[in-house]
Amino acid sequence: MGLDRCGVERIGVIGAGQMGGGIAQVAAQRGFRVFLFDTSPKALDLALARMTAQLERGVKKGKWDEIHAKETSERIVKACELEDLKDCDFVIEAAKEDVGVKCDLFHRLDALLPPKAILTSNTSSISITRIGAATKRASRVAGMHFMNPVPVMPLVEGIRGLETSGEVFSVVEELAKAMGKTFIEALDRPGFVVNRILMPMINEACFALQEGLASAEHIDRAMKGGCNLPMGPLELADFIGLDTCLAIMGVIFEGLGESKYRPCPLLKQYVTAGRLGRKVGRGIYRYDEDLKKMG
Ligand code: NAD
Repeated sequence: MGLDRCGVERIGVIGAGQMGGGIAQVAAQRGFRVFLFDTSPKALDLALARMTAQLERGVKKGKWDEIHAKETSERIVKACELEDLKDCDFVIEAAKEDVGVKCDLFHRLDALLPPKAILTSNTSSISITRIGAATKRASRVAGMHFMNPVPVMPLVEGIRGLETSGEVFSVVEELAKAMGKTFIEALDRPGFVVNRILMPMINEACFALQEGLASAEHIDRAMKGGCNLPMGPLELADFIGLDTCLAIMGVIFEGLGESKYRPCPLLKQYVTAGRLGRKVGRGIYRYDEDLKKMG
């Protein structure tokens, strides 16, 4: 499977955090062979354990059968070195939101992978043109922005860097669709579409909390009940990761240069304190061991 769809057979996924784990699972469920790499062996083990648990839950709920769960797990290879991705024909990078980390990874991938391989980033806000410039194949670099949680959220934003070729962008679109996603195309501007609109709202909710406009619970309840949102902006910030939100706001502020985008000091303070959100058990709210919100 996968061979006759967009010519992609082996997908390398870099970063086994919230996003990389979900991307690897969805790609494997759709029949692609996946090589999952993370610099942290602990993150890699945790991602694989979470995936197994999720596949088992799917069997119990009748979403798929045991054979599907088993075959999906078997399609995912644990890559302990970046070099293990050397035969991949498509890479989706989902390492931490840091321009230095991403440019270094793309520089190394460019030297490692066959010239025809396509390199994409799941970055939430960093310029694809800048990431492409870290390689000698900018025409084969694009943005492929999945939403969290990847197995549930239907959208992929495709981002064409200045040099991305039309042919490569078509493969990105086809692959997103082969992974069961809907696809939109956005310009390579800070935050693209989703985060250009979502992050200022989350940042403003942090300013509201900082000013004491209302409690965190009441800000979230107001936005859910008043705007029909499924999650309030502060619980969503915890879900995304406060470090990721801060990094995205930083890129939007730097890229667009308007003071209305300045990251909220309270958001910065939480990140400095290590309160990164749900993934570490504490952010704006506290979470128990099962990641349930405690208040
Ligand atoms: P995360 O903190 O859950 O995971 C990041 C992972 O990257 C960690 O496991 C870390 O060990 C690994 N890592 C760091 N440096 C690395 C390197 N050099 N090589 C390989 N692995 C490395 O973060 P996340 O939420 O999964 O976000 C990952 C990317 O996806 C970011 O670019 C983020 O902006 C983007 N994104 C996040 C969301 C979200 O809601 N969290 C949504 C869409 C896109």
